[in-house]
Amino acid sequence: MTAPRVTPPRPPPPHERRVFLLALAAGLPGVAATLVLLNVGDYPARTVWTVGGFAVGAWIVGTAILRERIIRPLQTLSNMLAALREGDFSLRARMSHSDDALGLALMEINMLGETLRSQRLGALEATSLLRAVMSEIDVAIFAFDDSRQLRLSNRAGERLLAQRFERIAGRSAESLGLAELLQSDSPRVHDRTFPERSGRWEVRRTAFRQEGRPHTLLVITDVTKSLREEELQAWQRLVRVLSHEINNSLAPIKSLAGSLQEVAVRAGGAADSDDDLRRGLDIIAARADSLSRFMSSYARLARLPAPNKRAFDLGALVRRIAALDARLPVTVDPGPSMEVRADADQLEQVLINLVRNAIDACLSERGAVHVTWQGDEGWAEVLVTDEGPGIGGTTNLFIPFFTTKPDGSGIGLVLSRQIAEGHGGTLIIENRSDARGAVARLRVPR
Ligand code: ADP
Repeated sequence: MTAPRVTPPRPPPPHERRVFLLALAAGLPGVAATLVLLNVGDYPARTVWTVGGFAVGAWIVGTAILRERIIRPLQTLSNMLAALREGDFSLRARMSHSDDALGLALMEINMLGETLRSQRLGALEATSLLRAVMSEIDVAIFAFDDSRQLRLSNRAGERLLAQRFERIAGRSAESLGLAELLQSDSPRVHDRTFPERSGRWEVRRTAFRQEGRPHTLLVITDVTKSLREEELQAWQRLVRVLSHEINNSLAPIKSLAGSLQEVAVRAGGAADSDDDLRRGLDIIAARADSLSRFMSSYARLARLPAPNKRAFDLGALVRRIAALDARLPVTVDPGPSMEVRADADQLEQVLINLVRNAIDACLSERGAVHVTWQGDEGWAEVLVTDEGPGIGGTTNLFIPFFTTKPDGSGIGLVLSRQIAEGHGGTLIIENRSDARGAVARLRVPR
């Protein structure tokens, strides 16, 4: 059985042809009537041919002109619309009359072009403002698509991951180490170490759609400084209250212990109980002394002045400090010669604390302490490396009072970090990755 043949529908005559045929049809009766009248009338053959030829010629030419008159403006309109569609808003249609139908259509198209042009300008301005805000803002922004691949990042984001966007675009959240943040509650504060900085970060997540696909916006703000300042203020208030109360009690304890000692000496008894009494009073006086020294060192934490910055040679400072503690030789591995603008007295205090801690850690292990420095045009970093037992955990290191040493005060690291952050820098203590021991990194802007 053969399939029935389907005759394709005839394409409608193009608009141009239809206009031409209609114009011809409109003129046809007049021309036909003229020709008939010429033949019916008693005219010489020459006249008939001349007038007939003229009528037919005028008919054909008039039809062609009419066709042009209708088709041309339509072509102009379609060219204008095509230009608008392609985003070229510079074309303008010239109108001879703005009050006829064609003039009105052209005027509307010109106005449409003007509206689209100003809308595009507005969108471009808004986009460039958004770009400028995104790149200048000190908050890291990342956008991930529904397959958790990075689609966008701003300059703070590049700094946080220490990579240019071109190198990380399209990488998965897992490979960038951001997967955990994409899943956590929002907003939430995380303790984290990124390639360039460690600290506390507030992470916020927002969902949005682009080209119909769901995306996730990750906004990461460094809240280390503000949280630390709040924490520090709380500690400072506590220390102020405690030192006031303790000092008030220590003064009479010390003076009473001194007076009782004199009484015991004057009584001059030789009995064992008198010895015990004197030894007890000695201990009370010594402990009261050390407690008041301890309290005054805490008071320093509450009264740390703002850094008084001036330029100095970092290498010279490091060498001087390395020679201070005689318990163990400290090796200086010289870095590049560099000047730093900072408070030399405060940085000296930090380095003394770091070197002392490193030596404390090495004494029992018979390890070595190395100090070196490095940097670029923006930053200087001093590294104090030891071969001690390393640190058990970083959670408590920077909490005032935390110490694992019998005569420690637990103030060295808090004070040191306060100084580093007062300079706009950081202090990190971590276990070494290459060997046993810890490394302290003090980083300050130059
Ligand atoms: P302190 O030295 O008076 O104890 P710090 O604030 O300087 O106070 O140090 C706090 C604690 O941090 C120390 O008691 C020690 O347990 C730990 N610590 C600091 N530096 C090191 C290090 N290099 N290696 C091991 N532990 C360290």
